[in-house]
Amino acid sequence: MADQPAPLRRIGMFGGAFDPPHWAHRDLAKTALTQLNLDVLHVLPTGHAWHKSRVLSPPQDRAAMCELAFGDLPRVKLDEREIHREGPSYTADTLRELQAEYPGAQLFLVLGADQLLAFKSWVRWQEVLELATLAVANRATNIGADAPLDTTSETDLSGVGLPFELLQMPLKNISATAVRARVGQTAASAHALDVLVPEAVAGYISQHNLYQPPT
Ligand code: ATP
Repeated sequence: MADQPAPLRRIGMFGGAFDPPHWAHRDLAKTALTQLNLDVLHVLPTGHAWHKSRVLSPPQDRAAMCELAFGDLPRVKLDEREIHREGPSYTADTLRELQAEYPGAQLFLVLGADQLLAFKSWVRWQEVLELATLAVANRATNIGADAPLDTTSETDLSGVGLPFELLQMPLKNISATAVRARVGQTAASAHALDVLVPEAVAGYISQHNLYQPPT
């Protein structure tokens, strides 16, 4: 009898609004894949983001932009389950599903420093900790719309009181908030966005008129 393929052992989950996905998201995915030696990294655009006060762009647009931003990375799996889930999306539920899909695998939850600081406000965060190892990339202290791109001031994670593995990724002070703000500025061309998002994502934003200020 032929040998069975080895089961996948190290599985990552990287969720986000991805409204839109930007260069730091892509760097984070690449760093997680290599540093954690992942067999697969599930990238999950969130459906109903219970923790964001803003109304998100349509899930189909965010999923399409994720395909453009991450689709060429080996071992990345775009996963739309949270988009199709009824009601709010909870990470604990997704991790439970992944645990059932990859029995015996070690699960990693990939996130940025801002999310680590907010982690204890997540629904069923203790369950998340039991299910997965947190893998965290640091982020600048100022991540607002006009935060300088070249900032070097990292968030202090020393008092966070949670176990996590630090991802060794150079600080890249990009946020989706800054991307949306830049698109809304007059005369922002797709070219001007290239420093923040992959070219294909910039093209999608402009073709679909995303993030335009209300007229
Ligand atoms: P917004 O500005 O709309 O709040 P965002 O840029 O934080 O969005 P999300 O889609 O909310 O993007 O982020 C998904 C995940 O990626 C989160 O865990 C977040 O912490 C992480 N992340 C986003 N940007 C960075 C960055 N520049 N460095 C490290 N991690 C990041």
